Amino acid sequence: MNLILLGPPGAGKGTQALRLAEARGYVPLSTGDILREAIAEGTDVGRRAKSVMAAGELVSDEVIVELISERLDSLTPDQAFILDGVPRNIAQADAVDSMLAAKGRRLGAVIELRVDDDQLVERVTGRFTCTQCGAGYHDTFRLPRQEGVCDACGGTEFRRRSDDNADALGARLEIYHTQTAPLLDYYRNRGELLSVDGMADADDVARQIEEALDGL
Ligand code: AMP
Repeated sequence: MNLILLGPPGAGKGTQALRLAEARGYVPLSTGDILREAIAEGTDVGRRAKSVMAAGELVSDEVIVELISERLDSLTPDQAFILDGVPRNIAQADAVDSMLAAKGRRLGAVIELRVDDDQLVERVTGRFTCTQCGAGYHDTFRLPRQEGVCDACGGTEFRRRSDDNADALGARLEIYHTQTAPLLDYYRNRGELLSVDGMADADDVARQIEEALDGL
């Protein structure tokens, strides 16, 4: 069953996508990660997306749809996927629908991670990830057990996202509320929305998602 994870920046979509990948074999497809890879590789798309992303604004729908389409084509028909960070607006949701239909794929459910805005600033501005394996940490909530060493892989290099600052986050939140949040009703009206409390700790959120999926 293919999934979409919806929620504001810092809601924990990336963390939960990785949990679902480990627990159920899903392939996580994060448009943010794909764009950050493109920037690191210096591709055309990356060069054009860089300043847009740094400002917390949205990359064009055409680019996003093309990137997702390519990634879906690289999966085998039996690989289920999770979309993380897409769709971001109604036009992208319509494009994803048509794309899935054209590729003979079905959407199973959309999972909303609910988190209040006032928690997001602290979550986002303190987060960092292991450069080697992508494991996520936080200055206040989750430091590595040994300072400077990744719990998961032993890596010693970490990075912070350039758009995880208060200014860019303000723009990202505004876009979330005006353009992305309307998707909640879009999927709720189709009976596809599952909503979980994203303010619990990551293990608890993962459990809620497992329960919601088991209940389908
Ligand atoms: P994320 O990692 O999902 O927070 O995305 C980081 C940034 O990448 C966003 O602030 C946008 O600039 C860009 N981005 C990621 N996904 C999309 C999308 N579906 N549509 C437009 N821009 C996106």
